[in-house]
Amino acid sequence: RKQESILGVKFDIVNEDEALEKLVEFVEEGSSLKKVYTPNPEIVMLAQDDKELFRILSEADLVLADGIGVIIASKIRGLELKNRVTGVDTMDRLLKYCGQTGKSIFIFGGKPGIAEIACKNIESQYKGVKIAGYHHGYITDNDQDEIINKINGVKPDVLFVCLGAPKQEKWIDKNKDRLNCSLAMGVGGSVDVYAG
Ligand code: UDP
Repeated sequence: RKQESILGVKFDIVNEDEALEKLVEFVEEGSSLKKVYTPNPEIVMLAQDDKELFRILSEADLVLADGIGVIIASKIRGLELKNRVTGVDTMDRLLKYCGQTGKSIFIFGGKPGIAEIACKNIESQYKGVKIAGYHHGYITDNDQDEIINKINGVKPDVLFVCLGAPKQEKWIDKNKDRLNCSLAMGVGGSVDVYAG
């Protein structure tokens, strides 16, 4: 695994094709939950003071450089991270793969009603993708078990967590041992992008 550190946060050196290859590998493997994050410069800065966030990012299975600032920081220092692989672009490619192979997805996050619209749009745009389920992202601590049960009940291949950063990274980390799916990806505002 080739990585490059920006202020201690290790990014994987991958282009878009290699990023997709990795994600497909995670889904096909289907063993323990793989955690994928796409931190932007703000999150890299936040991780300097937030030790929990720093640890979470260091324990990820794949860290993609979302945000041109991360790339610029890397270029200035003559490092290798040249390709920006955004969360939404990666999600688009992953959804195409899910459509071709009949994989199922779950979207957790966004305002009430938004994840449902996003899933309907995805279903019509990416033929073959199975919608395992969706849930909005405004839940209380008391609802935590219910949402985990809902996800585990439908066993999605891919779980998109759209709570914004660093909330989504912390949520994935907190629940990593009890989520019954192969891949969880923190993709922030993508739910709003797909809802149109
Ligand atoms: N969001 C959520 N629950 C929360 C806070 C935010 O589901 O408690 C959703 C919000 O509705 C939006 C998404 O998280 O759809 C991403 O938010 P934002 O654009 O602020 O995050 P970013 O993409 O910049 O990380």
